[in-house]
Amino acid sequence: MSYTLSLSCGCVVYVSCHPDTRVAHTRVIEARGAACRDRRHEVGLRLYLWELLPEPIQSAALEWEQPDVWRARMSPTAR
Ligand SMILES: [Zn+2]
Repeated sequence: MSYTLSLSCGCVVYVSCHPDTRVAHTRVIEARGAACRDRRHEVGLRLYLWELLPEPIQSAALEWEQPDVWRARMSPTAR
């Protein structure tokens, strides 16, 4: 079970969900938007849930330039 969704920047994200729980477990950039200015948005990049959230936090998200901190926090071994 999977679907795609478009980000406000124009990129298309492929979302794969668990067939039983329907919880999205994989989110990757499938196609890059022509107007996208986010250098991290490359095809194949894994995205986290909050990076897919729409407008309200969009401006704030652009100021969060600490992906390493996010990765450490979201790492399965860091729990
Ligand atoms: Zn983008």
